[in-house]
Amino acid sequence: MADTNNSLEHLFAENVFSDETMRQRLPKNVYQAFCKIREGQEPMSPALADVIANAMKDWAIEKGATHFCHWFQPMTGRTAEKHDSFISPTADGAVVMEFSGKALSQGEPDASSLPSGGLRATFEARGYTAWDCTSPVFVKEDGGKVVLCIPSAFCSYTGLALDKKTPLLRSMEALNKQALRLLRLLGNTTSQRVDATLGAEQEYFLIDKKFYEQRLDLILTGRTLIGAASPRGQEMDDHYFGALDARVAAYMRELNDELWKLGVTAKTQHNEVAPAQYELAPIFATINVACDHNQLVMEAMQKVASKHDFVCLLHEKPFAGLNGSGKHLNWSISTDDGINLLDPGKTPHESLIFLLMLCAVVRAVDKYAKLLRASVATAGNEHRLGANEAPPAIISVFLGDQLGDIFEQLGKDGEITCKQGGKLELGVSTLPPFPLDSTDRNRTSPFAFTGNKFEFRMPGSSIAPSGPAFCLNAMVADVFAEIADELEDIEIKTEEIPQKVRDILKRIVAENGRVVFNGDNYSDDWVDEAAKRGLPNTPSAPEALSNLDNESIFSLFERHGVLSREELTARTEILLEAYSMQVNVEALTQLRMLQKQVMPIANKFAGRLATTVGSLTAVEQNAIPQRELLSQICSLISELTQGMEELKQAIAESQEVKDFIEQANAYRETVLPAMARVRAASDLLEDVIDSRCWGLPSYAEMLFLR
Ligand code: ADP
Ligand code: MG
Repeated sequence: MADTNNSLEHLFAENVFSDETMRQRLPKNVYQAFCKIREGQEPMSPALADVIANAMKDWAIEKGATHFCHWFQPMTGRTAEKHDSFISPTADGAVVMEFSGKALSQGEPDASSLPSGGLRATFEARGYTAWDCTSPVFVKEDGGKVVLCIPSAFCSYTGLALDKKTPLLRSMEALNKQALRLLRLLGNTTSQRVDATLGAEQEYFLIDKKFYEQRLDLILTGRTLIGAASPRGQEMDDHYFGALDARVAAYMRELNDELWKLGVTAKTQHNEVAPAQYELAPIFATINVACDHNQLVMEAMQKVASKHDFVCLLHEKPFAGLNGSGKHLNWSISTDDGINLLDPGKTPHESLIFLLMLCAVVRAVDKYAKLLRASVATAGNEHRLGANEAPPAIISVFLGDQLGDIFEQLGKDGEITCKQGGKLELGVSTLPPFPLDSTDRNRTSPFAFTGNKFEFRMPGSSIAPSGPAFCLNAMVADVFAEIADELEDIEIKTEEIPQKVRDILKRIVAENGRVVFNGDNYSDDWVDEAAKRGLPNTPSAPEALSNLDNESIFSLFERHGVLSREELTARTEILLEAYSMQVNVEALTQLRMLQKQVMPIANKFAGRLATTVGSLTAVEQNAIPQRELLSQICSLISELTQGMEELKQAIAESQEVKDFIEQANAYRETVLPAMARVRAASDLLEDVIDSRCWGLPSYAEMLFLR
């Protein structure tokens, strides 16, 4: 065992140009200068970049790399890379391996076909990538080819953000700035930097490759567009946390190895609720690194699956009627000297900070609920949110019994007591540390306090986590700023600050307490109750996205330098268009399968049945059951035929709509229901047609055979 652990330590971050590697390979003064640059204390000089690039190149070449790439995250939500080799010709016709500081720091990938939302016309081909030196450089092995990857931001010629990373980095600056203001006001003189931390739990499905290859819907859209329910689904709850199947265990082992090599701290793995559904959670990291790592997790999940003859499905809803997949974002805020600001804490001083942080997050979530909802609005996720699984489309915050009780008390004057004994008086007497498990669990809440962090459960499994992450950072930074503005009032003396904070908390409870809900978020009562409280409920993704066109959201992002008006408008357009395109592809794929697979099969089967009826009648049998089945099949075929005509019509009409919002709405209101109608007829046919004729792997096979 000792050996295994030892080799594991060596394996971990083996493919990362880590701090340890840098300390070994860079001159001491260069490494020290780099650390300062990374902390934002100094700009990078060209000479320094050259030294670092050269060391990186040597290291990468030793790892077998021939190419490097700026690895970035365009608005597609995935990662993008354009490889350049290290070779550089010499005068005598040979080549040397070269990698300059300039090539490390900046790239010009063109990449004009990536979505820009009109920020960049295709004839203005220039787009730049810039090294995010706070996220480690790594080498990636792809089909025997090794590439040095440089995590980068991607922007236009004019400096407009074209990716998911740039606004995240900007939001980190904003959060740092505003959190430090608050910390100073509350007497913290030691922390130099505040960062959000993120742990992204990733859910996924694994199905056998041979089934996947027979299903055009999975191949083209990542989800099944037809398919009768399996007689057995997830009702037995026996898959959740069940023992791992040997093939799956082997997959997970290799996945962990791949991730560990990349420095991703894959930590937890288990079976999820639905059959064939699994989860992986890493140990949390600084938010931009965690977002990069989640991209690597998604990529590795798919690559490793292929080696094990599996396919990994990251879609939010691959199978109707079964739980979908989410990506829970565990989010907190920490200082560079190791204080988790959402940790209930041990001293009154820290507790004052804790309660302020906690209430500020509650206020941010209430004030910017529509933004948070929009940050996870995609066509795939629409199948989860509000569909009586995962969280509903109403944003609320779960605090649990103990904190919920304290929160309520904060709304009143007077001494605050802590449930389960103990007393606390803000900034004056002692706030006993909460035992970490004193907060209960609530799996139905979209935004739950879980001990020392919040868990945002709405994001879909395939989303780039940086989108919701930068929104969350910006929203919270904004409330921090609001409070800091108030506390910085020169009229307030230092010793009056605790009382002033108490007043602010009281006001937050009164103004934003409506968003706190500890009950069952799946119940119908909550929908009514939330409406009474005035909380928005937005099941429609296009509507959620159209809510971004709102002055308070524009000014939030502008105020904190996260996104300009132009950038946000472009993003909204991209997201709306992506919604329409996704539904369009799904609808066309479904039609294709119905036309070329289901219809011919149904007609053939009906023909066979008719022959049977003829033969039986010839021998003077009444053939009543056969006639009934035949007539059922024939009427389903006509239903399907008519449904397909309606679907074609709905697609054609939606394609014609010009406005982004109206088009997405058209897809949602006409195409999706038409798809549901044809699916219903097709699934009924699947239920009655001979399975040997059906020709498509069934739900039961895909979910239970491996
Ligand atoms: P739970 O059982 O509530 O899901 P875990 O301890 O398993 O809690 O944590 C789930 C995820 O939350 C993990 O990815 C973990 O690293 C992450 N996490 C824990 N603490 C923090 C924190 N301070 N900031 C961000 N994420 C965190
Ligand atoms: Mg969790």
